[in-house]
Amino acid sequence: MTPLARALARRISSCGPMPLSDYMATCLLDPEHGYYTTRDPLGAAGDFTTAPEISQMFGEVLGLALAQSWADQAAPARFVLAEPGPGRGTLMADMLRAAGRVPGFLAAARLHLVEASPALRAVQAAKLAAFQPHWHTGLSELPEAPLFLVANEFFDALPIRQFVRQHDGWAERQVGLSGGTLAFGLAPPLPLAALAARLADTREGDVVETCAPAEAAVAEIARRIAAHGGAAIFIDYGGWQSLGDTFQALRKHAPCNPLERPGEADLTAHVAFAPLAAAARAAGAAASALVPQGVLLERLGVTERARKLAQQLSGAALENHIAAHRRLTHPQEMGNLFKALAIHPLGAPPPAGFAPDQPKADHAHDA
Ligand code: SAH
Repeated sequence: MTPLARALARRISSCGPMPLSDYMATCLLDPEHGYYTTRDPLGAAGDFTTAPEISQMFGEVLGLALAQSWADQAAPARFVLAEPGPGRGTLMADMLRAAGRVPGFLAAARLHLVEASPALRAVQAAKLAAFQPHWHTGLSELPEAPLFLVANEFFDALPIRQFVRQHDGWAERQVGLSGGTLAFGLAPPLPLAALAARLADTREGDVVETCAPAEAAVAEIARRIAAHGGAAIFIDYGGWQSLGDTFQALRKHAPCNPLERPGEADLTAHVAFAPLAAAARAAGAAASALVPQGVLLERLGVTERARKLAQQLSGAALENHIAAHRRLTHPQEMGNLFKALAIHPLGAPPPAGFAPDQPKADHAHDA
């Protein structure tokens, strides 16, 4: 048993089974034994690899897209450039290098990072020192100003709750104890107003996931963008609407049992973008149509950039570069599994690469 497994078992025996969201939040962010709190989990030596760690091109094209939005909105002389969950700071470093070519952008930008992990804050501090970042524990701490923001694989790390459809009610999936070890169970079914709309497209036994912290984060971002201008780009794996159990644990690049080594495996779930778009609209901003990562990167010119970079490479470095381009864009790799959504002011166009909101019917096939 890990130290966190013992602490969780003690808590459950005195307080009863906990919702999945409490389990996930504790495993990822417990101040002493949490997964993110205690380590840098990224890269070949860690547990998982993300798009910015695969190629510099990812951050470069996104940085130029955000800089274009800044220019489209009359280039405000001071703005907040923000990233929640910046990992190793690689995405932001690549964005700043590319966007730095846009006259005036760097001088106007104030860099604000939202990061819960002290271990990763240290890595970010080393990589981004030249840009004098400010760190925050929550998005609500960002200064009130035009906000240009990017988030990659941030929402998939936020705690979800799971509900299993039973007749006309929903039974919440919980983490409890069975014979002294952690085990999944179900709370008694209840009618849930928040899931009433899902009675129409689910059947008995179906699992639906909700992520209240992600909706709250988007509402906070969208309110600022509606009030002060700006744009946000969210990229994550998932789809339009939650359907099915997507709770997943990853350790050393392989799936594992999410209850087996709490605090020692990365826990994630697919991101459902429909509730995030709805939260943005409710906060007074516009949400773009959802676009697959591969399509977005192509629209932003990633292949042209790849050709340019390839001219300076040969041998194994060239092979790796070609493989990285494929990994980011190909539909059978990350190109289709990962999706992107942009938030923008009602009166401004969406960032480059994004189409304005589309009618709901277009999403019908995209579970
Ligand atoms: N965006 C990076 C890292 C993704 S990993 C990349 O693409 O490589 C998830 C990141 O979110 C990590 O930096 C992790 O520490 C951070 N994180 C997870 N939960 C968080 C929370 N509740 N608040 C702030 N940061 C969080």
